[in-house]
Amino acid sequence: MQISEKQLLQVNDRIKALEKAGSFYGKKLKDAGVSEVKTVDDFLSLPFSEKNDLREAYPLGLMTAPEDQIVRIHSSSGTTGLPVIIPYTAKDVEDWATMFARCYEFAGITNKDRIHITPGYGLWTAGIGFQAGCEKLGAMAIPMGPGNTDKQLQMMMDMKSTVLCATSSYALLLAEEIEKRGIKDKICLKKGVIGSERWGEKMRQRIKTELGIELYDIYGLTEIYGPGIGINCKYDTGMHYWDDFIYLEIIDPETLKPVPDGEWGEIVITTLVKEGAPLIRYRTHDLSRIIPGECPCGSKFPRIDVIQGRTDDMMKIKGVNVFPKQIEEVLKTFPELSSEYQIRISHLDGRDTMRIYVETTGEYDFDALGKKIAESVKSKIGFTPIVKVVELGLLPRSEKKTKRVIDERYE
Ligand code: ZN
Repeated sequence: MQISEKQLLQVNDRIKALEKAGSFYGKKLKDAGVSEVKTVDDFLSLPFSEKNDLREAYPLGLMTAPEDQIVRIHSSSGTTGLPVIIPYTAKDVEDWATMFARCYEFAGITNKDRIHITPGYGLWTAGIGFQAGCEKLGAMAIPMGPGNTDKQLQMMMDMKSTVLCATSSYALLLAEEIEKRGIKDKICLKKGVIGSERWGEKMRQRIKTELGIELYDIYGLTEIYGPGIGINCKYDTGMHYWDDFIYLEIIDPETLKPVPDGEWGEIVITTLVKEGAPLIRYRTHDLSRIIPGECPCGSKFPRIDVIQGRTDDMMKIKGVNVFPKQIEEVLKTFPELSSEYQIRISHLDGRDTMRIYVETTGEYDFDALGKKIAESVKSKIGFTPIVKVVELGLLPRSEKKTKRVIDERYE
């Protein structure tokens, strides 16, 4: 997906603003001797930006518009080191709501819907993004925030919520509770907008069938507005993204060169009109690909595939590059298993070991099943893991993000 003339002009405008503000990227450009991009090649020679650059700018070093124009900040959760602070102007907040409302529209949601919002409100971008988009669309927001499952379900029934916004693990938890309590006939949900987490097809199917709803994956990251920069349409052929607000490239994370449309690589995003904290060629470390051709829905907005994980999820075990998605693909082929799994990697007696925990019901022979799975995984990744089969319900489920891979080698 080559950058267009119009997008180049927009990038130029952002470059000027960054230089004027003297932010980290303005300095990078100065060092690289760049002050203007005229051609596609010029654009491709622009330096990348990284999460670390953003951390180093803490607290307000990313601010590119004058302070009297900044109306809000958000912050990405810093699990390691300093958090990243992103300043927004009124136009940025407005643009984000416009994109988010478009996401709802692509999911067929209208101003007659009642949108039950369970992601958290506060410094991070989730809850407030879902809310602003909902209000822009003119639908009714039910701003629940996370937790308190009893109250969630009561409100869902009383308010007759038609759309559920949640992480995939929380949607699954709610689906299981609804099933357990036998209240499915009192639930009016028709659609789910699910974000902020990688999820397998199996989990998706379970949420879909248990709740009897259509599911939509929403994409986004705090550094680039927040959730709402892309979503799948009802044809479910990948996620459309909004190329009037962002330019998206896929690069090979090793060579840093763009890959042809259709090939997998890392998503790199340039914001085209952002004022508070514009980003040029920001490396997301999310893995996806551009889907070539046009969607059956007829929309001209380009598409990326479902996020397949992160470049830093790549694990080197026994000298082999392993990717959690590969394991998930294998587990998916076993109908005996639930959608939950956990991978633990440890280093014992000078050797790496990988243990995979999976769940099933008592009607299967755990040992025999474990062996079958271990063989299948070996044929996919080249070495044999230790597979532990446990009773259904024993693996952790959480309201926030479920951690599926635990690397104990560096703890
Ligand atoms: Zn479409």
